[in-house]
Amino acid sequence: MIPGIHSLWQKKGARVHAYLIDAPGGLLLIDTLYDNDAAQILALLKHLGRTPQDIRHIIMTHAHRSHLGGLALLQELSGAPVYAHEWESDLISGDRSAQQVSWRPQPAFRTYIYQLGNNLNLTRHPPARVDCFVHQGDSIGPLQVLATPGHSPGHLAFFWPERRVLFTGDAIVNWPRFELGWPGFLLNKRAHGQSLLKMAALEADTLCTGHGAPIATGGAAMLRSALDALER
Ligand SMILES: [Zn+2]
Ligand SMILES: [Zn+2]
Repeated sequence: MIPGIHSLWQKKGARVHAYLIDAPGGLLLIDTLYDNDAAQILALLKHLGRTPQDIRHIIMTHAHRSHLGGLALLQELSGAPVYAHEWESDLISGDRSAQQVSWRPQPAFRTYIYQLGNNLNLTRHPPARVDCFVHQGDSIGPLQVLATPGHSPGHLAFFWPERRVLFTGDAIVNWPRFELGWPGFLLNKRAHGQSLLKMAALEADTLCTGHGAPIATGGAAMLRSALDALER
């Protein structure tokens, strides 16, 4: 659907999405879905005639459970370095529990079960190691790293300028509707607002969101009108 970008998703974990990018320098994987056996990602690699060792970089937008499940196994099978913001690294290694979000139900209410899941922390992911801490302005293959705190303090987004594709993580979601992040998950509203402005300035055509189907084209206009609605 989007050339060079394979979108992977699971119903479990609130339609969480991961993205396998076929770039000239090799495969990059952004996030790893919910399931610990990484079955869907491994099946896609097989379907493409590739192996886990073809993955050059594994990149984490942030350390919420739905995005972390397949990480430990894929790290082991691929030998690829894992990149994340330093703030998320001890969550990924299992040394710290995810920061609590609001207990108050907020729209869209279909996300409330995930607020509870986050706060109760009932299911653990297999611990994994972050090899490289990355920051605003760094590059990983063709991607530019954007620090986009708000949903979590170490939340990252990634921009592929040649293709005008923005990988938004959970800063922008498209399930159960297009939204500038789920209100019930916002840890820092002011920081999140600044992150949204930073992302809007890129005029990305494609938005690959952390939950819900990616927006193949017209992403910049959607983002701008959602921001306008927020200001009104
Ligand atoms: Zn999240
Ligand atoms: Zn998420």
